[in-house]
Amino acid sequence: MQLKIAILAGDGIGPEVTREARNILSAAAEAGGHNFTFAEALIGGVAITAKGTPLPQETIDIALDSDAVLLGAVGDNKFNALSPDKRPEAGLLQIRQVLGGFANLRPSVACPALSDNSPLRPEVTKGVDILFVRELLGGLYFGQPRSWNKQTGEAINTMRYTKAEIVRVARVAFELAGKRRKKLTSVDKANVLEVSQLWRATVTEVAKDYPGVTLEHQLVDSMAMHLMNVPRNFDVVLTENLFGDILSDESGIITGSLGMLPSATIGGKVNLFEPVHGSAPDIAGTGKANPLGAILTAAMVLRYSAGLEQEAAAVEAAVQHVLDAGYRTADIARGNTAGAVTTAQMGKLVHSALAEAIDRSQSLHAV
Ligand code: NAD
Repeated sequence: MQLKIAILAGDGIGPEVTREARNILSAAAEAGGHNFTFAEALIGGVAITAKGTPLPQETIDIALDSDAVLLGAVGDNKFNALSPDKRPEAGLLQIRQVLGGFANLRPSVACPALSDNSPLRPEVTKGVDILFVRELLGGLYFGQPRSWNKQTGEAINTMRYTKAEIVRVARVAFELAGKRRKKLTSVDKANVLEVSQLWRATVTEVAKDYPGVTLEHQLVDSMAMHLMNVPRNFDVVLTENLFGDILSDESGIITGSLGMLPSATIGGKVNLFEPVHGSAPDIAGTGKANPLGAILTAAMVLRYSAGLEQEAAAVEAAVQHVLDAGYRTADIARGNTAGAVTTAQMGKLVHSALAEAIDRSQSLHAV
């Protein structure tokens, strides 16, 4: 298959981790006889320096002409004095809007080799595999009216959803649940908010089209507690923008490091893939960045934009293999930083584990 991938590496550790993710995509493509092409474009602080804007038109054109966009991270302290609409982060918000994805997928998977990195007990995190589907373009973050009247001391934000916006993201979540453990938990605050009552009624209606998936509803406050008490009980968790932002970050502690978390945003013109972490200026250029979040993001490119499930699972297994073998970047080394591997070494280790797994499966096929 052919896949055009735009690489928007961005700032700080963005280029360092994206390089490793791109290598993994190339390896997966080569092994399967696929033709992946890459086009690099500027975003964030590097784009401000080169072109005077955090999202140049050329980048938008390259992104829209692609099948998938892989983004590293944006953010550079040297632009902190600029107004919010001119800073590197404005480029990220803009590209999300341009691409138009409304379903933000954030997996939260416990890795047995890293169970000691989570503050939760290993018996609580064991086997956890949750996929958050967060609505990304509606709700409190976008609803009008919004204002802050400094004279009267009043500020307003509006939580607003239309039925159509809920239906489209619910369908994405039900489809995904149907391919996994067939359980969908929809999170709202229907005991207090009319928007949540519409959310619950709409999700219940959409569920009729997916009889193979079990639907349950949870109130967001008790969900925050259940996530830490019994995270294994959840498969796909569907929720609106603000609740999804909070709950998916909360569940990040299950994996033990921000550097391990991937994400994908689908449903728009072009899917956007990015590790959850930022540009980490404190470690940029030191070789300490953990590339596994970006590499697991590459696995999501394979799964959601290329439809290559086997290859995606092989990348995830290669990451697991390297961690099982005891290799750690500094952020997950639990104090043993002297024994930690660098960003490039970790990338190479995953690359080798993937190549070995591919060799093994090819020789099995040959037998
Ligand atoms: P951050 O995610 O960059 O870093 C938070 C902490 O986690 C830092 O100590 C960092 O060293 C560590 N960390 C992050 N990713 C890591 C990795 N892959 N490996 C090892 N350690 C890692 O968040 P921040 O410090 O709040 O923000 C820094 C800059 O990034 C800011 O300019 C912010 O606006 C931007 N930001 C961008 C994105 C994005 O591009 N999606 C997301 C969050 C923050």
